[in-house]
Amino acid sequence: MNLKELTIKQAHGLLENKEVSSVELTREFLNNVKERDGDIHAFLSLTEEEAIEQAKKVDGRIAKGEPVEMLAGIPAAIKDNILIRGAKATAASKILENYIAPYDATVIKKLKEEEAVFIGKTNLDEFAMGSSTENSGFGPTKNPVDLERVPGGSSGGSAAAVKAGFCVYALGSDTGGSIRQPASFCGVVGFKPTYGAVSRHGLIAMASSLDQIGPITKNVEDAAIVFKAICGSDELDSTSIHRDYGDFTKPLDIEELKIGVPREYFTHGLDSEVEKSIKSIIAKLGKEGAKIKEISLPYSEWALAAYYIIMPAEVSANLARFDGMKYGYSRLRQGFGGQAKIQNLLDTYLESRQDGFGDEVRRRIMLGTYILSAGYYDAYYKRAQKVRRLVKNDFDRAFKDVDVILTPTTPSTAFKFGEKTSNPLSMYLADIYTVSVNLAGVPAISLPSGEINGLPAQAGLPVGLQLIGKNFDDIKLLQIAKLTETVIKEKQHA
Ligand code: GLN
Repeated sequence: MNLKELTIKQAHGLLENKEVSSVELTREFLNNVKERDGDIHAFLSLTEEEAIEQAKKVDGRIAKGEPVEMLAGIPAAIKDNILIRGAKATAASKILENYIAPYDATVIKKLKEEEAVFIGKTNLDEFAMGSSTENSGFGPTKNPVDLERVPGGSSGGSAAAVKAGFCVYALGSDTGGSIRQPASFCGVVGFKPTYGAVSRHGLIAMASSLDQIGPITKNVEDAAIVFKAICGSDELDSTSIHRDYGDFTKPLDIEELKIGVPREYFTHGLDSEVEKSIKSIIAKLGKEGAKIKEISLPYSEWALAAYYIIMPAEVSANLARFDGMKYGYSRLRQGFGGQAKIQNLLDTYLESRQDGFGDEVRRRIMLGTYILSAGYYDAYYKRAQKVRRLVKNDFDRAFKDVDVILTPTTPSTAFKFGEKTSNPLSMYLADIYTVSVNLAGVPAISLPSGEINGLPAQAGLPVGLQLIGKNFDDIKLLQIAKLTETVIKEKQHA
């Protein structure tokens, strides 16, 4: 069996026809992880026993001839900032190193209802803050395409796990690009749903007005399957909402499709090879009958700056709960004896946070606290919120004329380890094409759109193409993505 290529639909077919059992499938993936994850480090922990137990249940039902759900018995990997009851949830932070989740995130509850099998928790940048997994408190993940390069971030472990054939699909979270950017770097599909489409309950919060959970998969159809399974309103997340998204399988006519190409996304900073690759797909879509229209999103230019104000402000509030008293690591619990520095409650807070948080997390907490402080709130936070509205208005205006917006997902292909770690600003620029989407709350997907040749004798590096849709047009966006995926494949085989 080719684990790297195996999709949800294929796996479901194999299980239903009894060509393979869920236990066999699960063991095969786990063995693959054990053999190869030493080099890649996609996983922070495995949940092997629970996985086998769940797989046995599904096998029992199939043996009895009972019908099972599409995701039943199929091995998945979960980003380690999403809670699975009884399993570790570290968010790749030392401060949560030994934290065991006391309940299931709503997305996990929903997947459990479908009898999904969870094989383990994947690596990320600490608390999802980063674009390369180099900020993980437990060491970076490597890109399975080229082990000298980063897998992207923050859901780098999930994207690498899907690419390496360690699971059939994975969940990630996306606050400013963390599903789409690693999907693009690893050559897989990553979908960020509309804000509110999927419950955030049980996701360790980074920036609550931007965070959204979504699937990382091998193709668009699988992304639609997982999205349908996890979407919906939830009384434990007041921002979640129920919608009837319509039918993904309904075919779409390419001649009726209007695609907007924003000129601001094709200027300085974009790697010329990436540009060429994306433009060749646009040309092909045009040739197939889609109407291509140049559009303008004039406030894109300010989106990154607004994001890097709003996001740390929310980070500083959300991470206040990790204080050495309520959760995880505490200097206090290390014993009073040798800890002369700990005299009172404040010392406990300060020392625990000092030990527990990494540099990037501390940087953002400090920035956010400063931004929200008296006298600076109006100058920074309030102004950034106004820019956020303008970014949203840009999209609203554009969607009056077009069905979907097409851009590169990232300005370059996967970079090498250490290339951007000494300059946080250069790392932040990796998100230039993805953050506007989170500010506006709209859905977006990254598709593998080709490969650019690296050095001689080196495998090509994946390029990601981003499609952005209207609010709650998630299924329509996925239909358009499916069509685009077909066009890309045809082009590759031409
Ligand atoms: N890379 C971005 C950041 O560092 C986005 C992170 C995310 O989406 N979680 O904030």
